[in-house]
Amino acid sequence: MDKIQMVDLKGQYLKIKEEVDKGIQAVIDSSAFVNGPAVKSFTEHLSQYMGGCHVVTCGNGTDALQIALMALDLKPGDEIIVPAFTYVASAEVIGLLGLTPVMVDVDPRTFNVTVENIKKGFSPKTKAIIPVHLFGQSCDMEPILAFAKEYGLYVIEDNAQAIGAYYTFNDGHRKKTGTMGTIGCTSFFPSKNLGCYGDGGALLTNDDKLAERIRMIANHGQQVKYHHKVIGCNSRLDTIQAAVLDVKLGHLDEYCKARYDAAAYYTDKLKAFDPNEEYIMTPRKATNSTHVYHQYTMRVKNGRRNELKQYLADYGVPSMIYYPLPLQEQEAFKPITRAGETLDNAKECAYSVLSLPIHTELTHEVQDVVIENIMNFFTK
Ligand SMILES: *Cc1c(COP(=O)(O)O)cnc(C)c1O
Repeated sequence: MDKIQMVDLKGQYLKIKEEVDKGIQAVIDSSAFVNGPAVKSFTEHLSQYMGGCHVVTCGNGTDALQIALMALDLKPGDEIIVPAFTYVASAEVIGLLGLTPVMVDVDPRTFNVTVENIKKGFSPKTKAIIPVHLFGQSCDMEPILAFAKEYGLYVIEDNAQAIGAYYTFNDGHRKKTGTMGTIGCTSFFPSKNLGCYGDGGALLTNDDKLAERIRMIANHGQQVKYHHKVIGCNSRLDTIQAAVLDVKLGHLDEYCKARYDAAAYYTDKLKAFDPNEEYIMTPRKATNSTHVYHQYTMRVKNGRRNELKQYLADYGVPSMIYYPLPLQEQEAFKPITRAGETLDNAKECAYSVLSLPIHTELTHEVQDVVIENIMNFFTK
């Protein structure tokens, strides 16, 4: 058996090689490396896939979050609520713009922020909320959107890990994650569920005026060349990356399904082994959301996470810790942040999570090796 990998981008590429190579070659042949036709084509296709919202592509997911905050009516000192258990980018951009990140806790089973957490971080200075759809499933958005509406708050969805997931509202209608709030942000980093072969990102919004403003900010604050209305930045999706993404978007639903099936296989086997959660807690499905399993993240009980990770590594099974430190313990944030509540769950998660290999090319044969080694660790 080949070496087990966390992700298998090569295997995935080989199945779509012809289409991808053709797309990349067409960009090189045209020399339209920036803002070429593939960018427009991908933008249109992504908009259709997302249900018709505006799409503005940009350089990466972190830029998308930064541009989102720049596009809103915010000033230094305004507070932005963000979960303490997330990738740093969700909160970093808040600090970068002189805004104040207010950290709140998360649900320890779904890893997502809830409206109850958000309420604990709320103050008269609160201007926006950044719910992060962590590991591939939606936050429970209906109450979050209702709370935001009541207090006039912007909602910026960090959808970097959940593209393709759906949230179902109580009346039965569904929306894709990233299209429910004021602005949705996503990343096309290679290992993301819709990843390119370098860096890329996008912003989504249903607001016509905001879309125009986002487009302007990502393009040096200009609508007419060399006439700069606001201070912007330079953040673009390369045409070559757009060509890759245009091909991969056509496969995204099948990729989501492959991840979902792999996750279900892990969960079945691990639950059969440990039905009473003596050793591990398998990922729990969130209310009203589908799961696209950007990560398959379990929690290891009794403080044995690091030991299990090392054991698996010794037997050739890779695993990863996303994320080892909650934001409140990050040095960079201590001077600028305010904790909205005690962040016990975020801490507990950071010290117990372990993500297993999951990707579109995973086979049951490989998964069996992963599972067997986990069982051996706890029983031998
Ligand atoms: C990957 C990621 C980002 C940032 O995306 P980049 O393209 O790497 O800048 C932001 N938020 C979350 C939750 C992510 O997983």
